[in-house]
Amino acid sequence: MQTMDTFNFAGKKAFVRVDFNVPLDENFNITDDTRIRAAIPTLKKILKDGGSAIIGSHLGRPKGPTDKFSLKHILPRVSELLGVDVQFANDCVGGEAEAKAAALRPGEALLLENLRFYAEEEGKPRPAADATEEEIAKAKKEVKESQKAFTKKLASYADVYVNDAFGTAHRAHASTALIADHFDTDHKLFGYLLQNEITAVEKVMNETQRPFTAIMGGSKVSTKIEIIQNLLDKVDNLILAGGMTYTFAKAFGGKIGDSIVEDDKLDLAKELVELAKQKGVNLVLATDAKIADSFSNDAKTDFASVNEIPDGWEGLDIGPDSEKAFADVIKNSKTILWNGPVGVFEFDNFDKGSRAVSDAIVAATKKGAFSLVGGGDSVACVNKFGQADEVSYVSTGGGALLEMIEGKVLPGIKAIRGY
Ligand code: AMP
Repeated sequence: MQTMDTFNFAGKKAFVRVDFNVPLDENFNITDDTRIRAAIPTLKKILKDGGSAIIGSHLGRPKGPTDKFSLKHILPRVSELLGVDVQFANDCVGGEAEAKAAALRPGEALLLENLRFYAEEEGKPRPAADATEEEIAKAKKEVKESQKAFTKKLASYADVYVNDAFGTAHRAHASTALIADHFDTDHKLFGYLLQNEITAVEKVMNETQRPFTAIMGGSKVSTKIEIIQNLLDKVDNLILAGGMTYTFAKAFGGKIGDSIVEDDKLDLAKELVELAKQKGVNLVLATDAKIADSFSNDAKTDFASVNEIPDGWEGLDIGPDSEKAFADVIKNSKTILWNGPVGVFEFDNFDKGSRAVSDAIVAATKKGAFSLVGGGDSVACVNKFGQADEVSYVSTGGGALLEMIEGKVLPGIKAIRGY
């Protein structure tokens, strides 16, 4: 299989699928350009080789063409970061895009308008709000048909396909997966970012150095259930923390006051504890909490056992005993996966537990452990604590990362390497 380093792009046109789905403020200023920066090494390599890049991306969830989600808003930043004047096509298909793609010379780049202006990108119909079931079924069939022509058109611009969009690798969309069928094995490859993401996740999940510890936080157990189940087959230690703590505590008869809880998941919590026992996994739950008399940074606070939280109070962070217990496990680990904060880290008065976890991960990493931090909020955590450079890898993927950890094969990855 070709890689970014083995492929010589000289004289070649590359269709590069990136994830430029960046947040914009009401004046269309980019508030966080991390995703653009993440794709720059791939684009630079193509241009430096003497190739040209036709860049495709989505932005937001448009239902059709709209100025609000136009990629023209981000064009100046892409040009600035890439160091060349990137051209723009006001439509991702049609005469203008075709002509501009055809005229591209070595070292030049063209950004296509938002791929999701077309329903064909996702292959999902966009029927009118009052459409009948019959009309919806017809629209579904039609969009699947027209998706083939759309995909073929995008592929026709280029000699080689590069996927560097980890954020959408779990989607079987036209530009993220289907397009790869139009290129032979030697002319489709992962961009640097996507390759790095795959390497990091596989290092954790498949080439695991033991002990392997996963720390799962966040607000709910329901959204993490498939990951927890898959991890129970892989890890030595599973630390479950954050809001889901209280579903576990209540399931075993604890008094949790007004803490966040999923009452319909109490049986599930018990089953997970049993499953961990059966599989010989050391399941570590918080034993104490920093409690608050309201969901606010300025709330009155105290510490309590997670099983003895008074009414009118809720657990918003782990307490000192749990901090120590978590840190001891983490510091003795050789592979670490962190997904989800262990408290409401957005409030400065309740970020100490997440800080303790982050500190322990950094300490273990210094001792040679491989640490992967991923999934929205834990990335925000290491960024808040200024520790993103002190862990082994910070993933850019949300859903895509979680699906990989769940053990699923991602369509965007399979389309290129076959598995
Ligand atoms: P998730 O999207 O499920 O990963 O949840 C992340 C969110 O969980 C963060 O915004 C945290 O503030 C929140 N969270 C963590 N611990 C708690 C807690 N004890 N109570 C309520 N929310 C929490």
